[in-house]
Amino acid sequence: MSSSSAPYQDRVRANRMGPSSLCCVRCRQRLCVCAEIPRVETRTRFVILRHTAERNKPSNTAHFAALALPNCELAEYGTEGAPFDEARLPTGPGTFVLYPDEAAPATGLELPQRIIVLDGSWSQARRMRQRILALRGLPFITLPAPTQARRRLRRPVHASGMSTLEAIARAIALYEGDALAAPLDHLHDALVAASL
Ligand SMILES: [Zn+2]
Repeated sequence: MSSSSAPYQDRVRANRMGPSSLCCVRCRQRLCVCAEIPRVETRTRFVILRHTAERNKPSNTAHFAALALPNCELAEYGTEGAPFDEARLPTGPGTFVLYPDEAAPATGLELPQRIIVLDGSWSQARRMRQRILALRGLPFITLPAPTQARRRLRRPVHASGMSTLEAIARAIALYEGDALAAPLDHLHDALVAASL
């Protein structure tokens, strides 16, 4: 029997489980979804700036974006006793901030070299944007609001009505094509299904 057709429980056992939490140590879900995590190679580099309050929430989707995208790094913001080092944020030409701001001018379709994604509640994202000096002056990317109602892990944290994983998928669709973004949409749906 090939691994792809193995029973789901076997796939769960194939991943190391944390001794105390009984969650998969990689995807951090009680029902492992690692088999659903695609590898999506983007030309744009994503830098996710995650508010520390999001870190241990099972519904946080930034973790999955980081697992699926080789060209992505996850930085933590707001950790107690660990001031954020702004020097680690890219700021050069071709760097954009993915942020829902209706007042932001529409962006062109030139491929961004880097996209910084703010991951947190609406108010946390707004505070990060205000307090992190390195973000000032960077152009925004705004995304069209989703046209389809879909199940989500929680009420969207982005004012645009999307989770962080969905927002990244939409940005990839916008600049690198729907086909590259589709596996991330499938992953999102798998996460929702696993949480029901
Ligand atoms: Zn897993």
